[in-house]
Amino acid sequence: MLPTESIRRVLDTALQNGGDLAEVYLENTERLSLTLDEGRLEQATQGNDIGGGVRVFYDNSAAYAYTDDLGEEALLEAATAAAAAARGANGIRVCADLTKRKSPVIFQVKRPFERMSTQEKAGVLRQMDEVTRRHSPHIVSVQCGYSETRRRVWIYNSEGVWAEDDRSFLEFRGQVTAQKGDVRQSSATGIGGQIGLEFFDDRDPVQMMPEAADTALLMLDARPAPAGEMPVVITNGWGGVLFHEACGHCMEADFVTKGASAYAGLVGEKVGPDFLTAIDDGTIPGRRGTMRFDDEGTPTKRTVLIENGILQEYMWDLTEARRVGRGSTGNGRRQSFRHMPMPRMTNTFIDAGPHDPEEIIRSVKKGLYAKKLGGGQVEIGRGDYVFTVTEGWLIEDGKLTAPVRGATLVGNGPETLRQIDMIGTDPALDPGRGMCGKIQWARVSVGQPTVRAPKLTVGGTE
Ligand SMILES: [Zn+2]
Repeated sequence: MLPTESIRRVLDTALQNGGDLAEVYLENTERLSLTLDEGRLEQATQGNDIGGGVRVFYDNSAAYAYTDDLGEEALLEAATAAAAAARGANGIRVCADLTKRKSPVIFQVKRPFERMSTQEKAGVLRQMDEVTRRHSPHIVSVQCGYSETRRRVWIYNSEGVWAEDDRSFLEFRGQVTAQKGDVRQSSATGIGGQIGLEFFDDRDPVQMMPEAADTALLMLDARPAPAGEMPVVITNGWGGVLFHEACGHCMEADFVTKGASAYAGLVGEKVGPDFLTAIDDGTIPGRRGTMRFDDEGTPTKRTVLIENGILQEYMWDLTEARRVGRGSTGNGRRQSFRHMPMPRMTNTFIDAGPHDPEEIIRSVKKGLYAKKLGGGQVEIGRGDYVFTVTEGWLIEDGKLTAPVRGATLVGNGPETLRQIDMIGTDPALDPGRGMCGKIQWARVSVGQPTVRAPKLTVGGTE
């Protein structure tokens, strides 16, 4: 991107008033997004978003200045601004040699986005729309969208880090609303990943639409959900969003060091059943949370968060790791060059358990099967949650007997995790549409096998 000598001058300038570590982050992001809303095509091409920032660490704090001009002059100005905030810190450090790092994560986009025209991409959306409307006369509203993002980042620091990453994301999403009389029900769907146009080799966004329509249609005739405490079985794959939101955030180091996390101080303690293992893995090829390096130049890794029910580790970025004198786990992420990194999950999931998924359903006398989860409200850190069940089924005498609508799951993540008593042999990751909001947005993957909580609070409508 910039010559190494320029980067070195920027880093030296950043440390002119002292400071412990200086970092330069450069970014070039290209986006295309298309939406087809009730048959009207809208294109939002934001083009390139280019910029960079300079960060100086001193003691337990950091100062950051950014610019949308990647010339050396502009970066020197940002460095001077960040250095000014670090004034008075101890000892001037000389910048180390920069050596380009190699990531152990190896996968490549095979067919870049530009090999397909915008018209062809819009054509896929039109097919998605048509197939859905033809599916049933009760479909009253269809929205679909396509987005592609190529984000390239370059990270350098005064300890000699030189890391680069090139991340390409492709995503299709759809929303279907069905109506009968005055009952309306909606269903959302989406697929994608960190992938190029080879996405189309084995995935078809048109096919996912009738399935979403079927969910909305099914829910039209569903009976009201039961309310109260009952056994709840949560689906594999996307069902892992509950673990991500209600437990995973509690293992992000910023909440932990502030003491604001339900899991603070619990490393080595039992937080779930013996057969529960949970992992954050930023190295899985093609997933939304995968990075060769995180946004601070640390190689990503597979971090076992919980092993056999025992809490093992939190997720760390540089700021929090330096605060306690340890290393980062490669979880430092930022929405863009306009943001400071913070500890974030990557691809986070509950690993396979010992129970046959069918046996898990059969084990429930009367309860709820949450087949599809919608949005949730979560007090992250503490882990209190409310999730909507967009497709629910009544379990009676070990069988799925009737679809129910309007169910919500209410509880506390760490408490729910403790009571889980069955985990399936069917782990899966979500189909590739996870987006996590924690002040900043980050793409993530979630996942889990089928799990059973024997006593969850269901807010129903019955
Ligand atoms: Zn989240």
